Amino acid sequence: MTSFHEFGLAEPIIRALSEEKYLTPTPIQTQTIPLVLAGGDIVGIAQTGTGKTAAFALPILNRLLSAPARAERKTCRVLVLSPTRELSGQILDSFRAYGRHLRIQTALAIGGVPMGRQVRSLMNGVDVLVATPGRLLDLVQQNALRLSSVEVLVLDEADRMLDMGFIHDIRKIVAKTPVQRQTLMFSATMPKEIAELAAQMLKNPQKVAVTPAATTVERVDQRIIHLDRAAKPDILAEILRAEPVDRALVFTRTKHGADKVVRALLKSGIPAEAIHGNKSQGQRERVLAAFRDGRVRTLVATDIAARGIDVDGVSHVINYDLPNIPESYVHRIGRTARAGADGIAISFCSSDEAPFLRDIEKLIRIAIPSTDRRTDQRPVQGPGANRNVDAPRHNAGRPQGRRRQRPPYPSNGHNRPHDQSQGNKGSGHGHNRPQSQPDNIATVGFMRDAGPPGAKSRADAGRTPR
Ligand code: AMP
Repeated sequence: MTSFHEFGLAEPIIRALSEEKYLTPTPIQTQTIPLVLAGGDIVGIAQTGTGKTAAFALPILNRLLSAPARAERKTCRVLVLSPTRELSGQILDSFRAYGRHLRIQTALAIGGVPMGRQVRSLMNGVDVLVATPGRLLDLVQQNALRLSSVEVLVLDEADRMLDMGFIHDIRKIVAKTPVQRQTLMFSATMPKEIAELAAQMLKNPQKVAVTPAATTVERVDQRIIHLDRAAKPDILAEILRAEPVDRALVFTRTKHGADKVVRALLKSGIPAEAIHGNKSQGQRERVLAAFRDGRVRTLVATDIAARGIDVDGVSHVINYDLPNIPESYVHRIGRTARAGADGIAISFCSSDEAPFLRDIEKLIRIAIPSTDRRTDQRPVQGPGANRNVDAPRHNAGRPQGRRRQRPPYPSNGHNRPHDQSQGNKGSGHGHNRPQSQPDNIATVGFMRDAGPPGAKSRADAGRTPR
């Protein structure tokens, strides 16, 4: 498919697309749009950045245009569920942008903001409602919304919603929608639970998939730095100074950790902002806007907060803490390879994080080149360990020659034993455990690994977008 005209989308939609400067459909759009137009259910495996929002929004808008009907009071015709406030806001913006020449009513129902306005916006009924699950249920429970007229249900980033403990909310929501509906489910990964959910909630779904996660991963120039935990702040500051950073997204495991990293960077004279679940919606929006327009080049985030942030031009993803859920690594580094661009992902790995690295390398089937900057350079156990960037790479399954050749980090003396400035800081063993509760996903992950069955409650998940 080389043009949006070929789908038979209505003229006002095509016009909006050309105003958005969308010339050719992306692969997920090529596969998905005709199937959704035909009215079938879809399971789409696609990450953020592949153009999946337009893949479902365009045919849905086309449906609204070709079957105009006034939504009844306190109902919606199309319901889109997404895991985070940011992603929900972006999805709504996309609907409004692509539907700007259509007369459609849209509304957003997300947590973290007062409910009154959302209740009012639903009063007369809307065509498209984009919501996070918790707030949506609150609205339903307060009789501000009925789901009995939902014609199309979209579950976006289903795997993430599952990770965040939204599964019960989703089941409740789906049960309140009519059986006769079109259901579209999108997920970056397809773990067993998602396949089961799809089997329960979708009718004869067609499966569409774009590039498996590992292929996106291949476009990113990845490096591991083995280091002492206590050396992380200094090495981060060093990287941000040495690397040609346009925009860097730094991931920490906890909200507390994100704030701490920002404080350390500011102390080193590097402007940075944090974005995480403890920030108010207004703060998050301000920080995101500053990151988007380049006023802040370093954004420190937790997984949840970063999820759904739609910012092009992230040149570097830095995993200050390695995620304990390997899929999160793929999500994270995917932030820097958007719209076909290549990016750089540098991950810190302290000795206690070596098992996480093993899981990640197993998932992506790539042995990530590494540099060792630990004080005590005894071999790290397992794959990915102690393999310097100059050593032969084991690129299992990776097509050769796709990656840009760039100097390994640090360019000014890689593989040196360790930075002298860290010599007296010890191995950081005293800091090996996380200092505070991990933010959302990570909490769930810990629960899953170590907690008793059933520990993964909604409260445990510490989710924010209620
Ligand atoms: P998404 O995966 O939906 O988050 O989209 C990622 C980015 O790609 C967004 O900034 C979209 O505006 C953009 N985008 C989506 N489809 C196209 C297209 N066909 N041509 C150009 N840009 C697109």
